[in-house]
Amino acid sequence: YDDRDGKIWMDGKLVDWRAANVHILSHALHYASSVFEGERCYDGKIFLSRKHSERLLNSGNLLDMPIPYSVDEIEAAKQAVVAANGLTNAYVRAVAWRGAGEDMGVSSARNPVRMAVAAWEWGDYYGDAKMKGAKLDVAKWKRPSPETIPTAAKAAGLYMICTMSKHVAEAKGCSDAMFLDYRGYVAEATGANIFFVRDGEVHTPLTDAILNGLTRQTVIGMLKDRQVKVHERHIEPSELESMEQCWLTGSAAEVTPVGQIGDWNFEVGALTKDIAQGYEKVVRS
Ligand code: PMP
Repeated sequence: YDDRDGKIWMDGKLVDWRAANVHILSHALHYASSVFEGERCYDGKIFLSRKHSERLLNSGNLLDMPIPYSVDEIEAAKQAVVAANGLTNAYVRAVAWRGAGEDMGVSSARNPVRMAVAAWEWGDYYGDAKMKGAKLDVAKWKRPSPETIPTAAKAAGLYMICTMSKHVAEAKGCSDAMFLDYRGYVAEATGANIFFVRDGEVHTPLTDAILNGLTRQTVIGMLKDRQVKVHERHIEPSELESMEQCWLTGSAAEVTPVGQIGDWNFEVGALTKDIAQGYEKVVRS
C-alpha cells in the first residue's frame, strides 16, 4: 500500500502518498501507542463520519495520548483526502500515534501525538463470503479483560492477537476468527461484532469487553425498527448449536452473513438477508 499515487493527510496537510512516512524510532512502532478508525464513504459521504472522529478522539484520550485536532478538523481532513484522491466509494483510515521525539523509553509524554488520514477503494471485506456466508475459526486467544487493556479504545495493541488469530483462520480456509472473551463468552471477530438469530429473536454479546461497533449500534436500531427483539447479553459458546442464523457487522465488513463457526452451521436466512440489504440502503440514505 505504500507505493501508490495519491495524497495522504498528515499532521495538518496533504502530502504525496509515497512521502507519508514516519521515523523508525516512532514510539508507536515500539510500544503500540496508536489508535485508528475504519470508515466507509458511500456516494461521496462518509457514513457516521462525526461518530468515527469522536471515537478516535476518545481512543486517544483512553491511551493518554490526546490528539491535537478537533472533531471539525478531523472531519475536514477526511473530506480533503476523499476529494484529493477523487474517491466517491472508499474506505477511510484515520490513525493517530505517538511519534519520535525526546523519549525512546516506555514513557512518551514528551513525544508528539501525530495523525494521518488515508483513503482508498476497498470492495467487500470478506470477498465472496458476503454472498454465501463466511466461515469462521474459533480463535485460541481470548479478548482481554477491560482491567487488562482499555477495550473501549480502537487501539492498535488490541489487534495483535487479531492478526495472529486471522492468520491461523486463513490457513484453515476460513475468512476470519471468532473470539471468546476472557470469561469464555462469545465476543467478536477480529474486526467485526457478531449477531445470532434464534426463534425470530436476535442475540448479540454485551460490549463490556469488546468494541461497541457503530455498525452494531446501527443494526440494533434497524432491528428495533422492524420490531425484532434484541437481547444484548452474555452468550455461552454452547449456545451456538441452537442458533439458526449469524452475521458480522463492521464499518469495513458491513453486514456479512456467517455460514459456519468451527463445527456449527448457520443458514443465510431471511432476517440476515433483510438486514444486510437494509444496511446498504441506510448507509446511502
Ligand atoms: N470489533 C472490532 C475488533 C473491530 O475492529 C471493529 C471494526 N472497527 C468492530 C468490532 C466493529 O466496529 P464498527 O462497526 O464501529 O466498525
